Amino acid sequence: MKIGEDSLIERIRRRIPSADRGLLRLGIGDDAAALRPAPGTQLVVTCDMFLEDVHFLAHTYPAEAVGYKALARATSDIPAMGARPELFLLSLSLPAERTGRWFDRMLSGMARAARQFGMRLAGGDTAQSPKKNPKIGLSITVIGTAEGGRILRRSGAHPGDSIFVSGRPGAAQLGLELILRGRFTEGRWKQLLAPQYYPKLALALGPWLAQRGVASAAMDISDGLSIDLHRLCKASGVGARIEAGKIPCVAVPDELRSLKLDALTLALHGGEDYALLFTVPKRLAARIPRMFRWTKLTQIGEIVRRRGVRLIGADGKDSPLEPLGWDHFR
Ligand code: ADP
Ligand code: MG
Repeated sequence: MKIGEDSLIERIRRRIPSADRGLLRLGIGDDAAALRPAPGTQLVVTCDMFLEDVHFLAHTYPAEAVGYKALARATSDIPAMGARPELFLLSLSLPAERTGRWFDRMLSGMARAARQFGMRLAGGDTAQSPKKNPKIGLSITVIGTAEGGRILRRSGAHPGDSIFVSGRPGAAQLGLELILRGRFTEGRWKQLLAPQYYPKLALALGPWLAQRGVASAAMDISDGLSIDLHRLCKASGVGARIEAGKIPCVAVPDELRSLKLDALTLALHGGEDYALLFTVPKRLAARIPRMFRWTKLTQIGEIVRRRGVRLIGADGKDSPLEPLGWDHFR
């Protein structure tokens, strides 16, 4: 379907910002894109897949949300590295019946995300999904720039560092719980579903931490605070103690009490928030504001020498925090 493919690419190009300028010397239309990084910057690159029936269900996910979320989840790692997202490449596998109105709605969600994140589309690849088992698949590669080559890594946390988290982890999981129960449509529950469909990224916070040199380690929380904190500790060769009472939880509305959703469990083990988890040497911790441009920053505990992550409960007793976040292969 080469002809059809060309017209799909043309529709993509019309909808999503893709002009050649700045870092992008040559974008869509030739055999490959050409980049021109400014002197002194470092490129940061990542990719991410968003697959029907693995990461989302096409009948519960609005098409706009598929486009928005696919780009948001791929991009989140860039600010988590302290860099600014600039460009992306979009690989698409599409069932024939998804090339009409669904496709335009998906593109409008993706275009909105691209504008919000200040990104342009540099190229991609388009193919039809197998006819026998047609599924939507999006794979997105994101390229960002780190000024002065200053990046944030998972591996720099030291005993005594303070642990911070941005936003309210668990909000995206709360949205997912509502979607999975199938009774919660976007109209009435818009506010609670938004963090799942249209996650916010730490776009300014990551580069700010990197440029100021205040964070010793950082990562985004994609699979859940518990599992991602374990990962950060492992990369740094340290352990952590966090306090249940300090974790900024989402408010579960009284009307949803029957669903028995515990806000602390959502915050500890819920995934897909794309909030930033970062550590700061104690002497610099006072430089971290409580609010960074409408995002709440909260100190939740500290890094310790002894391996493992421990949770201090309301009674002051601590116990091991199991890494129970999202894991595909568990
Ligand atoms: P090739 O057959 O050499 O892979 P394509 O026809 O796939 O070439 O691509 C032609 C141009 O269109 C390239 O610049 C490519 O980056 C761009 N392109 C193809 N698919 C997409 C897509 N899904 N999104 C953005 N650009 C795309
Ligand atoms: Mg191609």
